[in-house]
Amino acid sequence: MFEFLRHDRDMLIPPAGYWSNVHPTTYKIFKAHVSCPRCCTPTTINAYSVAPNGLVAPRFICQARQCGFSDMIKLQGWNRGLVK
Ligand SMILES: [Zn+2]
Repeated sequence: MFEFLRHDRDMLIPPAGYWSNVHPTTYKIFKAHVSCPRCCTPTTINAYSVAPNGLVAPRFICQARQCGFSDMIKLQGWNRGLVK
């Protein structure tokens, strides 16, 4: 399990290992921005669901070539409830 820390600036690309909120009108689609803790590649986790406690499903896989990071992930401080 990898827990992403919440970046304190919404709608900006977060640093590696952090997540940030997307715009309030689009979070049900895009969920959140995350930046891979291994290769720093940013992505939105639109293909995933997020539980009220921040747990993301299914298992996160970094799409960057040659990265290979894959783990269950959690968004610390998530407060937008269930999105899927
Ligand atoms: Zn990566």
